[in-house]
Amino acid sequence: MKNLFVPDYMFDDIYAITPEFIKSLGVRALVLDIDNTLVTYAVEEPTEEVIAWVRGMQAAGLRLSIASNNHEPRVAKFNEKLGLFIMCESGKPSRKAVKNACAHFGVKPQECAVIGDQIFTDVLCASRSGAVAILVKPIPYNENLFFRFKRVCEKPFIRAYKRREAKKAKKAENSKENKK
Ligand SMILES: [Mg+2]
Repeated sequence: MKNLFVPDYMFDDIYAITPEFIKSLGVRALVLDIDNTLVTYAVEEPTEEVIAWVRGMQAAGLRLSIASNNHEPRVAKFNEKLGLFIMCESGKPSRKAVKNACAHFGVKPQECAVIGDQIFTDVLCASRSGAVAILVKPIPYNENLFFRFKRVCEKPFIRAYKRREAKKAKKAENSKENKK
């Protein structure tokens, strides 16, 4: 059975995620987290790199949205230059964010991927919704005690992801050997 806390895919950062990869999953729409995924809490606007990454995804025909548990002023300000469909105070891990994005873009949950840096909000929201869960490493910043605690709690699930991927790789290797 699928563990809802274990991401489907993990990347070092958003820039390692390409439109080709997303499309290979049959995904047509993205639900993006902002804080520590696209930029840190301290950054009000998207950087040039974030804008270029977003435009690259859009140019490939993907539909992009933002779902943040942060408040409207933060999310709206961040979105000024991007002009994406936004969901503020999205209540992740609630399924609401994926549901709204699906309704807005006219796609099914399995055609949706949530990209974020937290297991207990972003990954769980995706898994519960039947969307693809993509975890990125949080952009390093000075985390408070609450966040540091959450990171410790996330560790077993990241280890589970790595174990599962190692198993998959081994299986692939074995079947390659067998074919020889
Ligand atoms: Mg975040």
